[in-house]
Amino acid sequence: MSRNVVTFHYTLRDPQGRLLDTSAGGRPVSYLEGAGQIIDGLDEALRGVAAGVKQRVEVPAAKAYGERDDTQVQRVLKALLPVEGELHVGDQFKAGEDAYSPIVTVAGVEGDEILLDANHPLAGVDLVFEVEVIAVRAASAEELTHGHAHDAGHGGCGSHDCGCK
Ligand SMILES: [Zn+2]
Repeated sequence: MSRNVVTFHYTLRDPQGRLLDTSAGGRPVSYLEGAGQIIDGLDEALRGVAAGVKQRVEVPAAKAYGERDDTQVQRVLKALLPVEGELHVGDQFKAGEDAYSPIVTVAGVEGDEILLDANHPLAGVDLVFEVEVIAVRAASAEELTHGHAHDAGHGGCGSHDCGCK
């Protein structure tokens, strides 16, 4: 089965209409279909689209960043955290030193202790995308081997060291 590389612009809102993210004014996103480069629900909804299509896609949380998991909320001593100064509910920071450490959110401050929430900030949130498909083309053999689109930009090869440009 052939697979396509799809390039699109998007605006992402929550069900209340609040703007969460947009590619407008920046580079469009390119991805290889079915490669996990974008969230599953959007990948599935855009399967087989044509260039020029404008589409509203609603993706339930379970097919986006997952449902919230309350076991991901943990109580830790503030003194053990890699942050200085006051912490406030809603503050976000990296849980560790390396670049791939998860982002955690302060869910509560109780004296010397902090409630840290390691859920993705969009866990449990249903997503509403307004998508405009810019281009659709067949994936190259190299892209299929690497498992991602080779268009420069978001979600492409910049994300890892596969030696391609
Ligand atoms: Zn590659």
